[in-house]
Amino acid sequence: MNIAFIGLGNMGAPMAANLVAAGYNITGFDPAGVAMDGVAEANTALAAVAGAKVVITMLPNGDILRSVAQEIIPAMDTGALFLDCSTVDVESARQVAEHATSAGLLAVDAPVSGGIGGAAQGSLTFMAGGSARGFALAKPLFDVMGQKAVHCGDAGAGQAAKICNNMILGVTMAATCEAFALADKLGLDRQKMFDVVSTSSGYSWSMNAYCPAPGVGPTSPADNDYSPGFAAELMLKDLRLSQQAAEGADADTPMGQLATTLYTQFVEDEDGLGRDFSALLPRFENRGRG
Ligand code: NAD
Repeated sequence: MNIAFIGLGNMGAPMAANLVAAGYNITGFDPAGVAMDGVAEANTALAAVAGAKVVITMLPNGDILRSVAQEIIPAMDTGALFLDCSTVDVESARQVAEHATSAGLLAVDAPVSGGIGGAAQGSLTFMAGGSARGFALAKPLFDVMGQKAVHCGDAGAGQAAKICNNMILGVTMAATCEAFALADKLGLDRQKMFDVVSTSSGYSWSMNAYCPAPGVGPTSPADNDYSPGFAAELMLKDLRLSQQAAEGADADTPMGQLATTLYTQFVEDEDGLGRDFSALLPRFENRGRG
């Protein structure tokens, strides 16, 4: 099967490499250049999609996705699948799906969780929105690039699931970090704090699987001087998408809003840029209430 892969950055390149290893014919396009074994390089997105049964996009944001979609949809074969794996706003995902389906294509939005490590290991989770036919066509590809794919509903449902999940993640990481800083100030040993919370009602993925305290719990970016992992600015991107969606849907999300304000400050005014999102712990550690 011929597949076009557009956007071969930190996530796209290892995802495409796994498809090549599984025997798919991949033609790639990225304005930054494509230097990947087994991937045929196209000079434009338009050239990449010629004859492709599936076009996968893995792009930075909704504006870029919409402009790429505008360019390639008219050139795609009828019945082909437009499979967007980027994290973008729900509105862009729905617009692109509508454009694609009205042009006789199938469309699925399928953002991922699992980061660069999951992309390299083929263990991503895909959350997908679109028709059952589109999902069925994408499923064998999800199985190569990931370990789990959930069909969440119609167009945009994948993006909706992704930003709700990541809003929870931003909020629980902030809460976990501030609780560690409070525990420090109360003279509680961090290992004891972990032993109790990780097996009590305060447990979460942030505490149990990605503990923000160095030397405590499983190995995490905290053990590597908070080098990402999942960079604070990517967390901020997803939190902003959650608040944009909440505004559009008139949903009250005060905790998500607070986490967005906190990460904005951390990334834009403090030293959060380029650090893991769990580096909120040293930030809280060094502050008082004032
Ligand atoms: P990246 O910046 O490394 O890659 C994006 C690629 O898109 C770049 O190589 C860039 O050159 C290319 N690009 C830009 N404009 C383009 C265009 N017009 N046509 C074709 N290619 C173009 O970003 P990434 O980390 O690979 O993330 C990609 C998407 O995955 C984002 O939406 C991100 O939010 C999401 N995501 C990232 C992670 C992560 O841990 N990095 C985890 C989950 C989801």
